[in-house]
Amino acid sequence: MHIEHIGIATAKLDEALAFWRDALGLAVVHVEEVAEQGVRVAMLPLGEPRIELLEPTHDASPVAKFLAKRGPGIHHVAVRVEDIGATLTRLKAQGARLIDETPRVGAAGCLVAFVHPASAGGVLLELVQHTSEHEAE
Ligand code: ZN
Repeated sequence: MHIEHIGIATAKLDEALAFWRDALGLAVVHVEEVAEQGVRVAMLPLGEPRIELLEPTHDASPVAKFLAKRGPGIHHVAVRVEDIGATLTRLKAQGARLIDETPRVGAAGCLVAFVHPASAGGVLLELVQHTSEHEAE
């Protein structure tokens, strides 16, 4: 397992890009709207892991709720796993509180599932399994 990306919530993608892309110098390799999660996502590689900037596309988006409650900042940490189904089964057996009992399709065709912060030391944890669609990108 290793860090896949760090998700950062921002009210305005352009404002976040002014820092991460323009000031710091990272490259944007992918921008995508993930309708199911109500976010527009920009991915900026930082070594092998990436910074994932998240801008809500509507007020009911979980990221909109996060911004209203906590303001901009680190929203989640994503860990890449080889077998997301097996990892979810293991976590469930250990009594972890899962937001997603089964994986769903995330940005770039990855399979993703979220683990509740209550079970992960206050950190919203995203599990990511790459798929062939993702590797081909
Ligand atoms: Zn993420």
